[in-house]
Amino acid sequence: MRRIAVLGATGSIGTSALDVIARHPERLRASVLAAGCNVEALLRLCAAHRPEHAVIDDASCFDALREGLRERGLATRAHCGTQALEALVASDACDTVVAAIVGAAGLPGTLAAARSGKRLLLANKESLVLAGELVMGAAHEAGAVVVPIDSEHNALFQCLPVGHGAWGHGDDWRRAGVTRIVLTASGGPFRGRPRESLHDVTPEQAIAHPRWSMGPKISVDSATLMNKGLEVIEAHHLFGVPAERIEVVVHPQSLVHSLVEFADGSLLAQLGLPDMRTALAVGFGWPERIASGVAGLDLVRHGRLDFEAPDLDAFPCLALAFDALRAGGTAPAVLNAANEVAVSAFLQRRIAFLAIPEVVRATLEAIPAEPAASLAVLLDADARARRHAESLLRAFPAS
Ligand code: NAD
Ligand code: MG
Repeated sequence: MRRIAVLGATGSIGTSALDVIARHPERLRASVLAAGCNVEALLRLCAAHRPEHAVIDDASCFDALREGLRERGLATRAHCGTQALEALVASDACDTVVAAIVGAAGLPGTLAAARSGKRLLLANKESLVLAGELVMGAAHEAGAVVVPIDSEHNALFQCLPVGHGAWGHGDDWRRAGVTRIVLTASGGPFRGRPRESLHDVTPEQAIAHPRWSMGPKISVDSATLMNKGLEVIEAHHLFGVPAERIEVVVHPQSLVHSLVEFADGSLLAQLGLPDMRTALAVGFGWPERIASGVAGLDLVRHGRLDFEAPDLDAFPCLALAFDALRAGGTAPAVLNAANEVAVSAFLQRRIAFLAIPEVVRATLEAIPAEPAASLAVLLDADARARRHAESLLRAFPAS
């Protein structure tokens, strides 16, 4: 029986994870559920899944969680805050962790899972962008199996030779004969539109993703192509492949989830319907295959697979992310923090869509890359980047 901590249980990935878990009562069990501040949603999940522990991040919600559990007659124990979450992740309350908190806020849970050698189903890509070497180094040392829960990286994980999985170390990729990684991108809701037409797009338009149903932050990241930029950095840390061997192609149907090229010219792809339950089932079952609730792909009905180059003029965030990866050190942490501030301001209608890359670019210019010597250095760069990006917002009014 796998005992699973779902961090970010009330979100899009968390909900999909619990759906897959509920399909396998004989082998999967949700033992810890954690969320940010939505007590009602967390209580509903506790009633449905009966975990041993529930964690709410926001301390002001703790009483409501404890009382709500008591009123429902549930034996689930209530906890609050990051330290409680880290302790539960590291404890024997779970052997598997779904890291699906959004943003840099997910790093403590991700790191705790890696350090304690748990099976880590890693959706929280921002923690890899912020501290990829630390997370993968800790996982390697503690023997944690990392299964990426991003459709692209999960596809790569499946296409790479069995037993390699997520390496993150040295040049294993070269020994496996890998010559290139191709990440596919849907292109988001504004694919094909020129830059001039994007001045006054709204948050509602930006989060209306044509293929995937996801949380608001990653949906905006998909519309700016920053999501693909974060994924390039994520792929580098997961598989050790350098920036110049990672390519991005736009594939509007979102059926080919990514590809690996080998020295003999072979290109292996993973295909499937765009539904994150497939990646989650891979993570829970690996190396076995288990049902996910996702139907097979009817190739004839879908008919075509198109590929095109990304438009870096309309979507400069992708190039900014490649630059940050090449600059190395603290640059990806700065990129990620500035992007989180800019996306949040856009969602609150404080800045325009096209200001998102401008805020990120100006923050990267203001805070030069330093060696990422420790977690403290990375967290300091993250904090400075947030302050700087915040100070820039007034220069980019919404309209
Ligand atoms: P979401 O906004 O739907 O859910 C976020 C979850 O995190 C919620 O449960 C929220 O309560 C919780 N949370 C937020 N701040 C928290 C905090 N400080 N402490 C504890 N919990 C907190 O987001 P999502 O779309 O599910 O994405 C989650 C992560 O997975 C992101 O890093 C995203 O990039 C990644 N991801 C998502 C998808 C997808 O299809 N949704 C695909 C690939 C990767
Ligand atoms: Mg993805």
